[in-house]
Amino acid sequence: MASLVAIYPGSFDPPTNGHLDLISRAARLANHLIVAILRNTQKQPLFTIEERAEMLKEISAHLPNVEIDCFDGLLVDYAARRKANLIVRGIRTVADYEVELQMAHLNSRMRPQTETVFLPASAEYSFLSSRMVKEIIMLGGDAANFVPEAVQRRLKRVN
Ligand code: ADP
Repeated sequence: MASLVAIYPGSFDPPTNGHLDLISRAARLANHLIVAILRNTQKQPLFTIEERAEMLKEISAHLPNVEIDCFDGLLVDYAARRKANLIVRGIRTVADYEVELQMAHLNSRMRPQTETVFLPASAEYSFLSSRMVKEIIMLGGDAANFVPEAVQRRLKRVN
């Protein structure tokens, strides 16, 4: 069977325990997993792309087949450049599914060589999003239960 190169794209602002869970599980399915940070137009990110890349590297350091990269433009163009045959996305809720399904169809129409696979969020993280972590931090709360230690250290600095 051909080598499976998977891309797990996202904003990861900041990476959460839910992201790490998905990275660990996807790394078991693919030969090589590229966690790709989207350089999008989000006006007020909490962390720079470089900071997010550093955190993702730290939290996935124990997974030898995981690479951290960033990209802009269309995901399918990036997938073509990286010769990736899989895109991995996490599904927490029906709302996620609706958005992700539409994106998967569009991507498949643009680049049929790259297949999208959905992994269900693990039950214990299915409520967790970067946006919620950011809200907790803005309101002066403690997000220690929701993010890896390397992320928690940096969150303390921005708080
Ligand atoms: P986006 O900005 O596209 O929502 P995120 O960085 O928030 O990107 O998430 C990237 C991917 O990780 C998405 O597929 C999202 O569904 C998934 N994801 C986010 N949080 C979790 C979680 N708690 N459990 C599983 N998957 C998650």
